[in-house]
Amino acid sequence: MTRLVKLWRTLETLPNLSATRTEWKLKTGEGYAIVERLLKPTGRSADVVPCLNERLGMHYHDIVEYTDGSAQAVFVDEFQDCPPFLVERHERAIMTPDMSSLCRQICLALGLDPRTQMLSLPHGVYEVGCYYPLEAFRFPVFLALMPATSRIEESLYAVAALYGDPFIFFTATPAFLSDRALTLISSRNILALALSDCLLVSEGRLTAAGSWNADILAFADKVVPKPEPSKAFFPTPPGTTWAYVTIRFIDGYTVFVNAAGVSQRLSYTEMGMANRRESRPSKQWEFLYEIAENHGTIDFHMGNAKKNKSWKYELSSDLRGFFRINDDPFIYDESTGHWQAKFTLIPIQDD
Ligand SMILES: [Zn+2]
Repeated sequence: MTRLVKLWRTLETLPNLSATRTEWKLKTGEGYAIVERLLKPTGRSADVVPCLNERLGMHYHDIVEYTDGSAQAVFVDEFQDCPPFLVERHERAIMTPDMSSLCRQICLALGLDPRTQMLSLPHGVYEVGCYYPLEAFRFPVFLALMPATSRIEESLYAVAALYGDPFIFFTATPAFLSDRALTLISSRNILALALSDCLLVSEGRLTAAGSWNADILAFADKVVPKPEPSKAFFPTPPGTTWAYVTIRFIDGYTVFVNAAGVSQRLSYTEMGMANRRESRPSKQWEFLYEIAENHGTIDFHMGNAKKNKSWKYELSSDLRGFFRINDDPFIYDESTGHWQAKFTLIPIQDD
């Protein structure tokens, strides 16, 4: 596994991210395996091409075009000499990496969500994807590629002003993070890292460096709120819908909850469904219990018919808040005139 310092430095410093394939290869070294697949033509053609030999190191030859369509690369220098060589048209094509593919590869390697919100960003800043640790907690991830501390600093401040924190802010290398940028980062919920520190290449693919896990866990610890008695919530996995939620009553005070594979045994207090003095289950909890007994159906004639409509409303709101799933957990069935739970609701079972 190798670090790709040359690749990241090139992405940061190469003007307009544009060069011929030969230049990309010379500049990125081992990182060329990653960037090669991403290169696409810009439609422009280079006027100079690089040449590398021991005597002169890396130097450039000028392109001279002939009427028959062929072209030669000639070294123009008063004091030194290097033989001209023929250059094919495709060798002069100026190529640029497909940044959205690169961003997807970064997400894949780091376990981030590659979906973007198409945010409008300063020139040189890319929306990589988002960090989506739990349902309803989604933090954007940015990548700033620019070869100057002042520009990185400006774009960091711009992103913070436009979108607020928390967010993740990548640079290609740590070289251009100024003290002022670091001060903003440490005073806000911003995780700022250099791709050269958190990515390695293994068998031609980007992969996370060992330090990444610790960094992202520390960030999650800072920005993802923890459940409290006054603000209970479930660690619902990203993208979960009601169809993937099961609530099974163990007894009158405890349920077993499973949401898309994450399960917990919870009391009514832990579900935020205790009444104000927290000594007894709330009306909504009792209503949920009754609905379970009624096989997930809210029949407005059951129990206290006068209160059922407002209880249904409050129970929906409690469940939405607890699981942070936005839509109503109950669906109206016109044929019966009853509401039916979209999740699986199981009453106490006799073993
Ligand atoms: Zn040469």
